[in-house]
Amino acid sequence: MKPFDYVRANDLISAAGALDEKSEIIAGGTNLLDLMKLQVMAPDKVVDITRIPGLDKIEPEGEGLRIGTLVKNADLAADPRIRTGYPVLSRALLAGASGQIRNKATTGGNLLQRTRCPYFYDPEMACNKREPGAGCSAKGGVSRMLAILGTSEDCRAAHPSDMAVALRALNAMIEIRRKNGDIYHLAMDDFYQLPGDRPDIETTLKDGEIITAVILPKPVVGVQSYRKIRDRASYAFALVSVAAVATVEHGLIQNASVAFGGIGSRPWADLDVNAFLNGKEPSAELFGDAADLLLTAAITDEGNAFKTTMTRRALIAVMSEVTGLREASVGSDRVGEIA
Ligand SMILES: Cc1cc2nc3c(=O)[nH]c(=O)nc-3n(C[C@H](O)[C@H](O)[C@H](O)COP(=O)(O)OP(=O)(O)OC[C@H]3O[C@@H](n4cnc5c(N)ncnc54)[C@H](O)[C@@H]3O)c2cc1C
Ligand code: SF4
Repeated sequence: MKPFDYVRANDLISAAGALDEKSEIIAGGTNLLDLMKLQVMAPDKVVDITRIPGLDKIEPEGEGLRIGTLVKNADLAADPRIRTGYPVLSRALLAGASGQIRNKATTGGNLLQRTRCPYFYDPEMACNKREPGAGCSAKGGVSRMLAILGTSEDCRAAHPSDMAVALRALNAMIEIRRKNGDIYHLAMDDFYQLPGDRPDIETTLKDGEIITAVILPKPVVGVQSYRKIRDRASYAFALVSVAAVATVEHGLIQNASVAFGGIGSRPWADLDVNAFLNGKEPSAELFGDAADLLLTAAITDEGNAFKTTMTRRALIAVMSEVTGLREASVGSDRVGEIA
């Protein structure tokens, strides 16, 4: 590992002051340290934010919740307010990584973990995300884990976070502190960048900016579900995952919000698909049509073409559960009226 300076920040002001273009924040370290050991990331300075007070709290914010950036994935999944009001988030977190990792991994770190494209993790292989302009070894390579939506000629990597998929379905906002102390909020689609010709730029985060929290809106009454399909039962990233939230009133779907993991270059949601579902009577045919709409723009090759069929089946199954068309599996939870 390349030598680096270590700064332990006691507050957000000193953390922001220590950050420059050659430094990285460390939170749980479960992704950053791996990348540093592999020399995929080689910061001159690491700024430890884990001793900054107040960032590890889950607090009410309006009718929703404010999740501090240092809240551990395991604590977030187990919090009673999350389990009852936002069960899709709890389930997505529990579907990610292992118990040990969830005990270390933080909310902000999970949002900013890097792609699991195998070529990105191998410094011997050309990768535009690691080194802009170097080329993409995934072209003509193994594509099983790669994205099929939102890709570009220069990068086809999938976004890896399960938590972010649930947050996208819940329309969460990301709270960011600028270097000068100002705070602003971004919707997830405005935060995560499509790869285009600069796949190394993954988010809008600027030097010195720190994620301070995630803001959840008021819980949606209805049923929420998260389904993750992967190569083995634990410790594997999603081939395809679906987070769904919906209500059925007078036989018609309301408030449908669906997001996908494993298939997009960012936690993937398509507002046209949500609009298509709303106001209609639930049926397997409707959900299949929604999947066709979602997948119109999909670009696949031999190695990941199976993801279109898998996504279609997963969407039909999950939407059938949340709309009551089919008996709910262990992955679905009803959210009641929240006082
Ligand atoms: C074996 C294994 C299996 C895994 N399986 C899954 C899985 O199935 N699903 C899944 O979703 N994840 C999985 N993960 C990934 C894991 O969830 C992430 O490593 C973890 O969430 C990262 O959080 P962290 O706090 O450790 O981040 P760190 O490693 O500390 O940081 C990650 C990045 O975020 C930046 N950062 C951290 N906090 C902030 C902040 N507040 N503001 C700005 N930048 C910040 C850091 O600078 C760094 O670039 C797996 C990881 C491993 C090792
Ligand atoms: S798909 Fe993206 S991350 Fe993977 S090798 Fe190509 S440029 Fe790198």
